[in-house]
Amino acid sequence: MKTETTDTLNAAGTPPLPRAAYVHVPFCRHRCGYCDFSLVAGRDDLVADYLAAIERELTRLDAVPDRGRGNACLELASLYLGGGTPSHLGPDGLKRLFDILHTRLVPLPEAEITIEANPQDVTEPLAAAAAACGTTRVSLGAQSLDATTLKSLDRDHAPDDVRRAVDILLNRGFTVSVDLMTAAPGQTLADVERDLDAILALSSQHLSVYCLTWEKGTQFASLRSRGTLKPADESLERAMLELSIDRLEAAGFEHYEVSNFARPGGRCRHNETYWDCRPWEAFGPGAARFDGRVRTTNHRSTTTWMRRVLAGEDFAGDRDAMTPLEAAQERVVLGLRRRDGLRRADFLAASGFDLDLVAGGPIRLWIDHGLATDDGEHVRLTREGLLVSDALWAEVL
Ligand code: SF4
Repeated sequence: MKTETTDTLNAAGTPPLPRAAYVHVPFCRHRCGYCDFSLVAGRDDLVADYLAAIERELTRLDAVPDRGRGNACLELASLYLGGGTPSHLGPDGLKRLFDILHTRLVPLPEAEITIEANPQDVTEPLAAAAAACGTTRVSLGAQSLDATTLKSLDRDHAPDDVRRAVDILLNRGFTVSVDLMTAAPGQTLADVERDLDAILALSSQHLSVYCLTWEKGTQFASLRSRGTLKPADESLERAMLELSIDRLEAAGFEHYEVSNFARPGGRCRHNETYWDCRPWEAFGPGAARFDGRVRTTNHRSTTTWMRRVLAGEDFAGDRDAMTPLEAAQERVVLGLRRRDGLRRADFLAASGFDLDLVAGGPIRLWIDHGLATDDGEHVRLTREGLLVSDALWAEVL
């Protein structure tokens, strides 16, 4: 069954204005061996051109209705600066970036404004600058509090940098999220257990736990192909994830998405926009935006994106125009990554499709195998289903 209206289209059949925006800041001090993100390392000479290009890309919003602010702009419930490392811009660079963003991206009262930060960059002046720019939340790329694990992950900070950074950020009143990585080369289950204890002692409100992935083209992938680095085996990876879920839930964190844990009330509202398939804007190299129908990704290369934006040329990389059915399939995958799962009535209203029509076969199979539950109203993955979820999505897509 397919109905007429969806929450990704308004009554006129056009997508509603986004209430969330992502800005990609492509600068890092050093490229970590496992990282394939869109960034440049050691190229601070490009910051001025990057800021000029962001200012220019924001003029895409000229198409948005002027709401009496004298400038076409978007009113936002969430703004997320990711990277790369936004904190690498330092206090002055961060202020310059926010000054540019705020001409076109206007946070609504109570908006969630997140910046990603590396522990070494976090100083009192940086925290003060971030607060003055309206930042409410900082996502800290800690990855581990164990010196050996940090070294094996090719990170260039020390455990004490993480502790100091979290103290500064919490004292400033930010909501703090800490990234933890598991399945690092040589890491044992006992190492992860110690990391979890150390991270829980930091008292952050949010945690993201990711398993190391071996992306093509990275230094880690090449060291693996030469046999110098060895990935953790699947059973160890799984044991690490189970241990993380157990420890964090026992400590009062809600496991609200496959990789994300929050203290009550501490969910990341910006990421919920992605998982709900609501439209969002995005700016910067490699940044992907979604208008409710089409996902457009900017050119991944920082220098190419900058050159093209500043020359007034097309700077788009990929354009993925989903059919309504494909959009509904993606909604199944993103919805089931969340502990709340999918509510049939909401799914129908939002996608225009009956859930059973889109994914009834795979869901029945998962229920038979103890990977999902269905109470007639909600479909949810079980804990076992969440643990193997990455292997399930091909059955829907
Ligand atoms: S700091 Fe983060 S974004 Fe930068 S290279 Fe390392 S993993 Fe990638």
